[in-house]
Amino acid sequence: MSNLRPLPEAHHLMFEQHLQKLQDHHLLRRLRTIDSATGPTAVLEGREVILLSSNNYLGLATHPTVVEAAIAATRQYGAGSGAARLVCGSLMPHHTLEAALARFKGTEAALTFAAGYLTNIGAIPALIGKNGLILADRLCHASLIDGCRLSGAMFRVYHHGDMHHLERLLARRPAGTPTLIVTDGLFSMDGDIAPMQDIAQLAERYDAMIYVDDAHGTGILGRTGRGTLEYCEVESRVPFHMGTLSKALGSSGGYLTGSASFIAYLVNTCRSFTYTTAPNPGSAAAAAAALQIIEQEPERRLRLWENRARLAQGLLRLGFDLAASQSPILPIIVGDPDRAMTMAQSLFAHGVYAPAIRPPTVPPTTSRIRLTITADHTPEQIDRALVILEQAGRAINLI
Ligand code: PMP
Repeated sequence: MSNLRPLPEAHHLMFEQHLQKLQDHHLLRRLRTIDSATGPTAVLEGREVILLSSNNYLGLATHPTVVEAAIAATRQYGAGSGAARLVCGSLMPHHTLEAALARFKGTEAALTFAAGYLTNIGAIPALIGKNGLILADRLCHASLIDGCRLSGAMFRVYHHGDMHHLERLLARRPAGTPTLIVTDGLFSMDGDIAPMQDIAQLAERYDAMIYVDDAHGTGILGRTGRGTLEYCEVESRVPFHMGTLSKALGSSGGYLTGSASFIAYLVNTCRSFTYTTAPNPGSAAAAAAALQIIEQEPERRLRLWENRARLAQGLLRLGFDLAASQSPILPIIVGDPDRAMTMAQSLFAHGVYAPAIRPPTVPPTTSRIRLTITADHTPEQIDRALVILEQAGRAINLI
């Protein structure tokens, strides 16, 4: 039953044909309902399963202090912000969070956005325009690619992590072309870390800017959790840092840190900052509380890495190919999307939820089960998951 006018037949047919084509290629996606928090376990379609696919790396999305901070801010400031930041939505929790982020990253200022996606599609066009050149790693996140396209700059990709290729592209560009090198810090689908020392060196040699998306590194990499740039010891060589509040920080939103004038420039130029409602006060307060826990409880990070070692060692012992993972993101490369789907279904049937990741999210022939582990998984949950992963891997002759 629908009270809408039916779609014109031609459109309806076009949509149906597109969906059928995706189905035929095992690339159709459907939404599944999770009826619980996304902790180490979750309730999916009525069953409790071990969750190996959330980015809640430090377990902070469900941490009582973080949840209470969201509730208190929601009580005081409301469920929604009411307007864009530049209208009347710039609430105290946003400013408190931005001050905390700037302090954490050791920069003059910070700016938060309603999503990491919005951060990238706004900041990149603010940094470079159609007279410029963008050189991006081939495995950059979709939001970076969309930001690059929106900028109107000339856009070239270099082979994943290939510094010789990047240098060739830098050397070949017309003299005086403003250039932005774009990369993930910790790659979201492969779990490997960008060679930031080499990228910084090339940027300095060829006078290019660097834009690093540290959505996945924030809170988990580096001695104090400041992310990939701290881990690679290049923080002071990169003038602005981008990350998200939606992964280790357990909330939602994106951020950029940098000089006060850079942040003021973004406030005045970033369309995805200006023309969208400010993040919910509860989300901002939750992220600020999470940041404090990250600073005060380094043992969470330690537990995450211990869990990562237990799971990775178990998987390697079983004979799985984990590509070049160096992090709590552990891709089990399967190849064909139909085999990856079969493996995901088998995992779910036996109590592990880790969906198949297929093109266009990952390059063709590299469909995979992308596992993520968190600080809150217990050794028993990891060992149980390994038994289930072994069964599912054997069932498709992957191991
Ligand atoms: N960048 C990377 C590398 C990501 O993995 C993601 C989220 N998957 C984003 C940006 C987008 O962040 P958000 O989910 O906060 O919009």
